Amino acid sequence: MTVLAISGLVHETVTFLPEETNLAAFEHRASRGDEIATTFVGSNTVYGGFLSVCQDNNVTVEGLICAECAPSGPVSKAAFQALSDELVSRATLWRDEADGLLLHLHGAMVARGDNDPELTLLLRLREVLGPDYPIAVAMDLHGNVSAEKALLADIVCGFRRSPHTDMAETGARAASLLLAKMTGKIKPVTAVARPGLVLPSIFTATDVSPLREIMAEVREAAKQPGILDVTLFMGFAYADVPEIGATVLAIADGDEALAIRTAERISARLVEEREALYNAAPLFDPDTALDKAAELLAQGVRPIVLLEHADRGNDSTHLLQTMLDRGVPRTAVPYLHDPIAAMAAGSSGLGGQLMTTLGGKSSEMAGFPVLFTGFIKYTGELRYSITGPYRTGETNDLGLSAVIDNGKIAVIVTSHSMTAVDTDPFTQCGLDINEFDIIVLRSKTHFRAAYEPIAGAILIVDTPDWGPADLIGLPYRNVPPGIFPITMGPPDDGIIDGLDDV
Ligand SMILES: [Zn+2]
Repeated sequence: MTVLAISGLVHETVTFLPEETNLAAFEHRASRGDEIATTFVGSNTVYGGFLSVCQDNNVTVEGLICAECAPSGPVSKAAFQALSDELVSRATLWRDEADGLLLHLHGAMVARGDNDPELTLLLRLREVLGPDYPIAVAMDLHGNVSAEKALLADIVCGFRRSPHTDMAETGARAASLLLAKMTGKIKPVTAVARPGLVLPSIFTATDVSPLREIMAEVREAAKQPGILDVTLFMGFAYADVPEIGATVLAIADGDEALAIRTAERISARLVEEREALYNAAPLFDPDTALDKAAELLAQGVRPIVLLEHADRGNDSTHLLQTMLDRGVPRTAVPYLHDPIAAMAAGSSGLGGQLMTTLGGKSSEMAGFPVLFTGFIKYTGELRYSITGPYRTGETNDLGLSAVIDNGKIAVIVTSHSMTAVDTDPFTQCGLDINEFDIIVLRSKTHFRAAYEPIAGAILIVDTPDWGPADLIGLPYRNVPPGIFPITMGPPDDGIIDGLDDV
């Protein structure tokens, strides 16, 4: 009987945010031991994918620790130490019972004092488990994946869709390939090519050209005879690290040259398209977006999704302030992170009237807290199983939350930071989505799975927060030369900077 250990440590780190991410943020969504299988079985998550392959192949699962939190500032030294110590010690404890390890990492985690803590973790795991211990890693499409990091695992697979509706599928790809390697059916060889570019997350939507066509090529390349898997990681622009940028990773069955050719070919395509990739959609400021929305609404186009995508703390107020100043038609603002406002609303109680400040607390770039007066239309502990296409079946826990409604704008304030990406916020808080002309979201790409089918139009509002579309103005200090568009050096042709036969 084969036994596989399952574990994960997942965080997309915005290094520019001033506040550190502490252990409590991870513990809020951590599970251990048998709890991992009960939490994730059947869900559209990486762990859900790991578990389904194990079940289909009669593999016994040993849960170690799975910890994750929403994108936020650098992981504190203490939090990374505690979580990685626990993961490594649990892996060590199960080393002799488990035949291999299925691991979920993001690819863009940064800890205070460590630019690549995932590399540190993999090095520690290799130290205790040995160089031949089977390890597969499933990562996020937004990972900054250096060859050094990727080549520490036998198998690395990443999401190919953003919105990441293929999380379970990716976990399943990684688990299936690891099992095939363990039984000697395949001899995976991995090649890594890095095109020397990074895009703002807003332009990493995989159904927007030209990335849509490049991703189609990636999927085609993965079907070539002799190729086992291909991933295009788009990188994460808001982690200021030397490893920043896109990565193409190709796994071939024993054929190194084929893996290299495949990775190089797709990397060269990215270089070719880099200008177009960086200008994939029009951008609006709050005023021009509201003008455009008014124009579209007058033509009967509704609802209009306004995307305040640069918000990395789920509490930007640039757009909300402009809407209050100008006046707007019926507007919903789901999931604005503000625990103090949520608590005040809870104290006022259902039907009560509240004057409070909202948002603008995550950093000086999030805008000022705005003064807002409205009636409490909902208050309570908001915890539910996600029904949208992204992370389906996973539990969302927003903590004490409230709807504060001034008759024009209804804001859902939450105690835990979470980006609204589907229509659950409306149904959970007793709001009718059809009532709203404008919906303000803060998602980058994930909202598209639920909102593209129902939105009359999507307007990208580029406000001056820590996740802007224009990367040039951000205070990068660690990006090496040659990363388009940040350091603007001459592009590579897709140079192979790592190759191994692990
Ligand atoms: Zn992602």
